[in-house]
Amino acid sequence: MKLTRFNQGQIGLVVDDRIIDVTTLLGVDVNEWPQVGMNRVIARFESHRAALESAKSLPGVPLSSVKLLTPVPGSSKVIAYPINYHDHAAEMDRNVKANQLGFFLKPPSSLCGAGEPIVLPAIEGRRIDHECELAIIIGKGGRDIQRERWQEHVFGYSCLMDIVVRGKEERVARKAYDTFCPVGPWIITADELGDPTQLQGRLWVNDELRQDANTRDLIVDIPGMIEMASHIMMLEPGDIIAAGTPAGVGPIRPGDKVRIEFERVGSMTMDVVQGTGGKASIFAQA
Ligand code: MN
Repeated sequence: MKLTRFNQGQIGLVVDDRIIDVTTLLGVDVNEWPQVGMNRVIARFESHRAALESAKSLPGVPLSSVKLLTPVPGSSKVIAYPINYHDHAAEMDRNVKANQLGFFLKPPSSLCGAGEPIVLPAIEGRRIDHECELAIIIGKGGRDIQRERWQEHVFGYSCLMDIVVRGKEERVARKAYDTFCPVGPWIITADELGDPTQLQGRLWVNDELRQDANTRDLIVDIPGMIEMASHIMMLEPGDIIAAGTPAGVGPIRPGDKVRIEFERVGSMTMDVVQGTGGKASIFAQA
């Protein structure tokens, strides 16, 4: 099953090239704050499964006629693994990798979706890069999860871009701007995707293929990421794990179109635009 959000925050079930509005069916209020409707759907998914299966035969509207939003805006945290592919460690000239570094967090406010632009802050002269990553969406929460039990805790998968200002400032500040965490175009449920351990992921800027790697080459694998994070923090339904990026990171500029694709998950193409805000004092000097 493929689930996402669209337009004003409605929940959509994606079937081929159609999207079916299942907001009312799932009892979600698009005006609630905080926006945790999808977290609730994920937490209670088995009680909704039969109704969602039946809804697949409803007509819906063309996917191309709606604005796709990020699937889980109310995620309590985005857990991101740095240096989790050997070839990226080499290009960044780093010896310490995710198995020793652990992870950092991106704020949920940085999430955006397939139908939205990536807005660059007005910090002229600073390099802002794309990173192509698989997103793992947590279903059942928990603490101290053993790696053998990882599958019980995964709801599904999405494409994720970890956008970053390069430099020596705190990593969180460089990766926390609004729209610096595109996730989408939907969540494909774990049962529909099957094995996530050999997924090819690719990222293009305009027509140039920049990144092309397989999740089999992760340093800390998916069970290991769940195990490590859950031994430090409670994982909650709707939490997002960004698996780390392979080699090929590079700059994005206003006017670019960035396309990310993971096989059997989906793909999305996003516009990069120049914003007028974001002149944080720490970025004042190159
Ligand atoms: Mn990253």
